[in-house]
Amino acid sequence: MKNLYEIKNDIVEIASHLAQMGWSEANAGNISVLLSREMSFEESDNPKSYTLLELVKELAGRTILVTASGSRFRRMKRDIDTQIVPITISQYGTTATWPAEYPNPTSEIATHILVHSLSPEANWNESAIVHTHSTKMLALSSCDMPGEMLKEAVNRAHPEITTLMKKGLAFLDFAPPGTWELGTKTKNEFIRANSVIWRKHGILGYANDIEMACDYVEMVEKAAEILILEKGAFGSFLGLKNKELTSLQQLIQSTNVF
Ligand SMILES: [Zn+2]
Repeated sequence: MKNLYEIKNDIVEIASHLAQMGWSEANAGNISVLLSREMSFEESDNPKSYTLLELVKELAGRTILVTASGSRFRRMKRDIDTQIVPITISQYGTTATWPAEYPNPTSEIATHILVHSLSPEANWNESAIVHTHSTKMLALSSCDMPGEMLKEAVNRAHPEITTLMKKGLAFLDFAPPGTWELGTKTKNEFIRANSVIWRKHGILGYANDIEMACDYVEMVEKAAEILILEKGAFGSFLGLKNKELTSLQQLIQSTNVF
């Protein structure tokens, strides 16, 4: 099992990568890791707190490391000791608290808490969420096509979506950021998705491993890039035809190699 320093270092590495890719301008993007039960923090004296709008009993007593509000991914390496906030859910799942010397957690804290609350039921002792403002998916998801049509196009755009994202992806229509409501909708989508796209905003990946959560973001962004290139070069989305998609699905079912 990784220690706290290694987990914080993982967050730094992913943050730096996202910044280098140009997907986390200014203070955009947020990352969190639900620590294993064995690593939960005690509540500190005089902590700062955030009141949960509904009980989150699934995470009672658990700690999440989350990037701070206003943190800049491009300099997260230098800010490792100050911009990764340990928030602990109270015993009854009513509040999240963190030591007073830390800044506030990301404004998307509701989404992070609510999505991680799916992890115990999935038998994940740890989990990670990566959210970033990747450029091509931001552009693609801004079109007027219904989410289901976009999802179909993304599924066909890149074989890796079918082979490596077993639960696939979901599109959520634009909603104001940083709300409990957005967190609830996102959680509901993650019950059956590996990645959720907030239209006209960005991508989220959720997995029991931070590298995998970032993989999901990368794969979805690559698919968006392919679709935009195809549309520009050929006038329409291309991607896998029915026969090709079926043969790929049959291969996955028969070989279990992916
Ligand atoms: Zn965002």
